[in-house]
Amino acid sequence: MSLFSFPDTSSITGAEPASRSRSIVIVGGGIIGLAHALTAREAGHEVTLIERETRPLGASVRNFGTIWPIGLAFGPEREQGLFGMRRWRELGPLAGFAADPCGSLSLAYRGEAWDVLTEFSSQPGAPEGFTLLTPEETLARFPMANPDGLRGALFSPQETCVRPMDALTALTAHAARRGVKFETGVCVIKVHDDAVELADGRLFRFDHCVVAAGEDMKTLFPIELAAASIRPCRLQMMRTEPVAGRLGAIMVSDLTLAHYPAFSQCPSLPALKQKIADTMAEHLAWGVHVIAAQHADGSLTLGDSHEYGQSLTPDIWMQVDDLVLENLATFTRLPGLKIASRWQGTYLKSTTGQTQVVLQPRERVTMVTAMGGLGMTLSWGLARSTVASWELLKEPVETLL
Ligand SMILES: Cc1cc2nc3c(=O)[nH]c(=O)nc-3n(C[C@H](O)[C@H](O)[C@H](O)COP(=O)(O)OP(=O)(O)OC[C@H]3O[C@@H](n4cnc5c(N)ncnc54)[C@H](O)[C@@H]3O)c2cc1C
Repeated sequence: MSLFSFPDTSSITGAEPASRSRSIVIVGGGIIGLAHALTAREAGHEVTLIERETRPLGASVRNFGTIWPIGLAFGPEREQGLFGMRRWRELGPLAGFAADPCGSLSLAYRGEAWDVLTEFSSQPGAPEGFTLLTPEETLARFPMANPDGLRGALFSPQETCVRPMDALTALTAHAARRGVKFETGVCVIKVHDDAVELADGRLFRFDHCVVAAGEDMKTLFPIELAAASIRPCRLQMMRTEPVAGRLGAIMVSDLTLAHYPAFSQCPSLPALKQKIADTMAEHLAWGVHVIAAQHADGSLTLGDSHEYGQSLTPDIWMQVDDLVLENLATFTRLPGLKIASRWQGTYLKSTTGQTQVVLQPRERVTMVTAMGGLGMTLSWGLARSTVASWELLKEPVETLL
C-alpha cells in the first residue's frame, strides 16, 4: 500500500475533458462516491457506481448539510472547500435541490471568543467577505440571535446549506441522467487489481476504481485501514419541527470556535479553550459543540456530540441532547422548539489531524476516507484531484475490457 499524493490541480476550474475515456468503478453512493462519479463522467469516462443500499443511508444523509469553508485552515484546504461551495451552488438548480447561500454567523458571548473572531478575520489572507458585527448590527440583521451577553459576531458569506437527503437523492438522479450507471442493492465483497466482485457473483472490470465506502471501509481494506491512524466518531443529531421565522444564516457560537482547525492560529484560542474547560466540562466530555442549520421548510438540523471508539453502545443519550439544546438557547431565541426526530451518524477521522486520507492499496485503486466532519464540503475538490490525477499518469493504463 502506498500513500497517494495528488498533483497540484488547483488551476483546474471544473471537470477537464479526459484525453481518453476510461472505465471507472466507484464503490459507495454517499457524497464522496457521487462526487467522484459525476466528476469522472463529466470528464468523459464510463462510470459505474455500486451501492449496497437502494438509497443513500450513510453519513452523507445524516449530517447538517452545511458546506463549511470557514472551518478549514487558510490555504489549499480552504480553496478546496470554496471549490466545493461553488459546485454545490451550481449543482443545486441543475440537479433540482435547494442550496441556500445563506452564509454563517459565528456569535461571540465570551470576551475570549470575540478576541478569536477579531484575530481570525484580520489574519493575512482572510477573505474580504468576512464582516465583524457589533451586537446592535448583529441583532438588526439576525433578530433570532440571543442578545443576552452578546459581544459581537462574524458573518461569512460563503457557507451554504443543503438538506442532505434531498440533495443526495437529486444528485443521484442527476448523475444517472448524465450517464453514470448505478448498480444498487448489491454489496461489493472484494476489490481485485482490475475488477470488483459483487455478492451476487458478478465482476465489474475497471481501469480505475474509487472506494468510498464510508465507515465500512474496514470490510474491504481492513489491513490498510488499521495502518492508517483512523478511528470512528459517532455523533448525535436532531431535527426540529418547522419554526416561524428565519435564522438568516447557519448559526454557531463560542464552542464551535474551539472545534475547527481554522481557528488554531488565533493567539486567543488557548484562553477561550481554557475558559470552556473551566466552565463547560460536561460539554467537553461529550465533545459537544452546537450548529443550527435551517432548511427551506423552516425546520432546523441541530447537533452535535463526538464519541470516539470502535464498538460504542447503541444509545442515543438524552443527556447529550439536553446539553445541545441548552447551549443552543444561549445563542438563539427559538421559543417553543419541538424536536421531530433524533439520529446518530458516524464518520471516520484521522487521529493525526488530516482532514482527508487518500490511500492507494493497489495500482489502480484509490481509497478515499476519513473526511471527518467536512466531507460534504471537501468532496468535490477531492474528486476533481482524483480525476485529474488519472490524466497525469505517465504510462496509460492498458484497458482490460
Ligand atoms: C452527524 C454528522 C454531521 C456532519 N456534518 C457535516 C457538515 O455539516 N458538513 C460537512 O461538510 N460534512 C459533515 N459531515 C461529514 C460528512 O457527512 C462525511 O464526511 C461524508 O458524508 C462521508 O461521505 P462518504 O461518501 O465517504 O460516506 P457515506 O455517506 O457513509 O457513504 C458510503 C456509502 O458506501 C456504501 N457502502 C459501504 N460499503 C459498501 C460495499 N461493500 N459495497 C457497496 N456499497 C458500500 C454505504 O452503503 C454508503 O452509502 C458530517 C458527518 C456526520 C456523521
